Amino acid sequence: MSPAEPTEVAAGIQRKLRQLAELPVAQLHQVGPRTERELAELGIGSVLDLLTHYPRRYLDGTRLRPIAELVAGEKVSVLARVVRVGQASSGYGRGRRRGPSRVELDIADDSGRLRVVFFNQAWRAKQLPVGTLALFYGPIGTYRDAPQLNSPMAEVLELPGEDDGDDMDGGDDGDGGAGGDGGAGDQGGGDGGMRRGRVYPIYPLTDKAKLTSLRISRIMGEALDRAKDFADPVAPTWRDRFGLVDRTTAYNHIHRPATTEQTEPARRRLAFDELFRLQLALVLRQARLQRDARGIRHVVDGLDGPDVPGSTPTLVAQFLGGLPFELTQAQHRAMEAIRHDLAGPLPMHRLLQGDVGSGKTVVAVAAMLTATQGGHQAALMAPTEVLAEQHADEVRSLLAGLTVPDPATLQGDRPLGVALLTNRSTASERKLIHAGLADGTVDILIGTHALLTDQVSFSSLGVVVIDEQHRFGVEQRAALRAKGRGEDGTGRDPDLLVMTATPIPRTAAMVVFGDLDMTIIDELPPGRQPVLTRWLRTPLEAEEAWSRVRSEVASGHRAFVVCPLVEGSERVQATSVVAEAERLAAAELAGLNVGLLHGQLPSAEKERVMARFRAGDVEVLVATTVIEVGVDIPEASVMVIEDADRFGIAQLHQLRGRVGRGNEPAWCYLLSENEAPEPEARLSAMERTTDGFVLAEVDLELRGEGTILGARQKGRSDLRLAKLIGDQDLVVRAREMAVSVVGEDPLLGGHPLLEEELRIFIDDDEAEFLFKS
Ligand code: ADP
Ligand code: MG
Repeated sequence: MSPAEPTEVAAGIQRKLRQLAELPVAQLHQVGPRTERELAELGIGSVLDLLTHYPRRYLDGTRLRPIAELVAGEKVSVLARVVRVGQASSGYGRGRRRGPSRVELDIADDSGRLRVVFFNQAWRAKQLPVGTLALFYGPIGTYRDAPQLNSPMAEVLELPGEDDGDDMDGGDDGDGGAGGDGGAGDQGGGDGGMRRGRVYPIYPLTDKAKLTSLRISRIMGEALDRAKDFADPVAPTWRDRFGLVDRTTAYNHIHRPATTEQTEPARRRLAFDELFRLQLALVLRQARLQRDARGIRHVVDGLDGPDVPGSTPTLVAQFLGGLPFELTQAQHRAMEAIRHDLAGPLPMHRLLQGDVGSGKTVVAVAAMLTATQGGHQAALMAPTEVLAEQHADEVRSLLAGLTVPDPATLQGDRPLGVALLTNRSTASERKLIHAGLADGTVDILIGTHALLTDQVSFSSLGVVVIDEQHRFGVEQRAALRAKGRGEDGTGRDPDLLVMTATPIPRTAAMVVFGDLDMTIIDELPPGRQPVLTRWLRTPLEAEEAWSRVRSEVASGHRAFVVCPLVEGSERVQATSVVAEAERLAAAELAGLNVGLLHGQLPSAEKERVMARFRAGDVEVLVATTVIEVGVDIPEASVMVIEDADRFGIAQLHQLRGRVGRGNEPAWCYLLSENEAPEPEARLSAMERTTDGFVLAEVDLELRGEGTILGARQKGRSDLRLAKLIGDQDLVVRAREMAVSVVGEDPLLGGHPLLEEELRIFIDDDEAEFLFKS
């Protein structure tokens, strides 16, 4: 019983992650200064860092066979030490034209010796010096009647000499753990030759760190022996319900499984912990916002129900009644959910997901009008000037003719005030807008980030809509919301509607937008025809696209040509678009009016080109991806995307959404000669479906979750084991438990362990926000 480790003395002590996070790895007997530095190369400083350095995969030593028993013709796994290394170029092609290099090893275990040959892998000689213990996996052949292992995979477990303990000062090392609990001895200390019959975890390593998986395993073994028992914040009832193993089992089985079957339950449990912490933070955030909220109970009657005969219909009823189309069922459902939120005392925090063209704008406008008819204001923030301007045009035309009561005027009412504010608004325009916001005559303010500036203050902000949320951060969302309270903080919290046109799968949305309620518009307006999409793989095939452009233009439609993404600055990009537009105008599109749009054009020029395209003076618009988001030209019926393999699925889907916005047929041509597996998967998915949610799943599968999480996950990202594809059930369960825990205990006062753990993984600002009382 070393006095340095008092906590290990008492039986039944359970390790908390917090303690392990505060314990430097150097405290382990097997970690001296050199190993400490090498672990640091892997980003491991604390024992918690070590324990969350998970194996990449496992080699199943239970299937290993002694060399003496190997039979030619099989694929085999062999655990052996290198006993000889020879290197030669092969016999043929002497002189200048040397043949492939050849590395030849002899390996041995206690049953025999085996020849291993690598062709054209000269580096193997360095990787596998004499004395190295490694796992070899590959086909056994014969050479001159002797068995031989040909170009196997080789996983180094131990480098020569490593066995002797590399830490000069680590004199007390040995069989891991002063407490020396023998039960785990087979996992801990010296390797004592080779052991078949265990599962070898293979850890992520860097070239720089001269550590091997076996060495890490040993250190891990000591950490696990000394930690013994882990405090488990997930109570047995929840574990039973979700089929999860306890945390002690999980850490042991992921790092030192006895069989490969133990690893997946361990991974699932630890993945659950990651997802649960994330959901807990999100649900707490939501609860926190609601607890402090001073919401507005909006007047919602008449939203989309029957009018009371004789009474003046509300603005919303007038607006909906004037639409030239019927709302879809999905739009009705979304409005119903929003109406419910708006009427309630707590501010709405809702995400409205819907595919391109599903009609989110109408829904958002109805929400904004609800604020307006109760005497409040609404704001709509879009990520780009083009989009903001387009929204302003659209909203103005949708609301044309609507008036609001105003006793100060002669008629007793005035036209509904819709204003546009971007960085391009002039000083005098701004002044007018600021005044209109203050006296309440600007009812709806539409704009870009410019809305966030200090000078923008509302007399009573009731509803906030944020379009294309993925382009804004959480902070910007909060900043616009905060405008409701005003400078003196006496105002109220507006209802918030966040829209995204880039669908993400439901469980992924739970992870990324878990602090928002969610509504999905899963239906397109009737009559829409899916955009016919063709992947054209040769210049000859591409002629189909150009002839379609010509025939569509001839029948009064318009076309987009999107130029390839090129490496380099915006300027380089612009140069290449200009060149391509000129080339096309002289060749494939000769005789057509070709316009040009890219990010380097002055705003006035951009606007002019768009106006000409809208009017039909420009028939084909050659553009960069500036047109990706939201551009709405109903007459556009063809989209040609050059070098389509350079674009991601989400981007291709957005681009394609620019055509087929009316009820006439539309085409999208993807030009690409690249048939490598990854682009092939993307382009053929685009050919196969126009459903944004299906494409989102494909995208997630191809690219992994990093891209979805990346934009949002700041600070310490905790998702190491959890997968958005494959662990959907865990996401749902983690959310269920988080909602339940927070529902009963919104400040986690009764769950100190959970709070403590959460604090390890979120940054200080977030913790401050979540836990301040
Ligand atoms: P998005 O969800 O991409 O923002 P929009 O709101 O811009 O979609 O709608 C796309 C087009 O469909 C617009 O021209 C809009 O007027 C029209 N639209 C919206 N709802 C319907 C509907 N229920 N029936 C027919 N057309 C609709
Ligand atoms: Mg829209």
